[in-house]
Amino acid sequence: MTEQTWESVDGYLSELLVPADPALEQALVDSREAGLPEIAVAPNQGRMLELLARMCGARRILEIGTLGGYSTIWLGRALPADGSLVTLEYEPKHAQVARANIARAGLADKVEVRVGAALDTLPALVGEGAGPFDLVFIDADKDNYPGYLDWSVRLSRPGTVIVADNVIRDGKVVEPNHADPRVRGVREFLARVAANPRLSATAVQTVGTKGYDGFALAIVTG
Ligand code: SAM
Repeated sequence: MTEQTWESVDGYLSELLVPADPALEQALVDSREAGLPEIAVAPNQGRMLELLARMCGARRILEIGTLGGYSTIWLGRALPADGSLVTLEYEPKHAQVARANIARAGLADKVEVRVGAALDTLPALVGEGAGPFDLVFIDADKDNYPGYLDWSVRLSRPGTVIVADNVIRDGKVVEPNHADPRVRGVREFLARVAANPRLSATAVQTVGTKGYDGFALAIVTG
């Protein structure tokens, strides 16, 4: 099976199952035109995030890694009228593009974009008494995934859903002591997930327009 097949199947699934949303489509266009890297989740993956948030009745969502706000808008679409979402982004330019995209999607009153290194902004959230969040989506720099997991669990409650993208890395995740710190980061992340008695979890491989990768999915049980 080729990447071309994965892409055509993704196209088929997205056309069939992912409702058209001009604000989401324009968010991708504006992100590309602003020079942001094209590393947002795929449309069918964004839809999956929205469905996960709806399934767990999320009212408060935390996202780590905003980029141009594409996944943020998907998650924001799942929120009830009084819901809220905090999204953390290191690059001021990404945050600026995201804020405009989020506003166009009609979510400015529900979404806060915080600029800074997430390992700094996460402790600030804890210090403010933010949380517990109902769903956390981890999608920033992979080397820091272990730290993001620890802070996410601190900002959780029993029942909180934690989703992390890009944990398979073209299959390199099975290679211990890999030279790439991103691979070591997701391996340590998965090891901490497995070792945490408060988490019940799995991970699934994905193929599609974003290549070969995968999501980890966990629920806080106690
Ligand atoms: N979730 C986005 C989506 O699907 O639309 C994609 C996020 S992209 C894969 C990762 C983002 O994390 C980039 O915008 C990058 O600037 C940001 N990032 C990288 N290092 C970070 C850090 N230390 N703290 C916060 N954000 C960071």
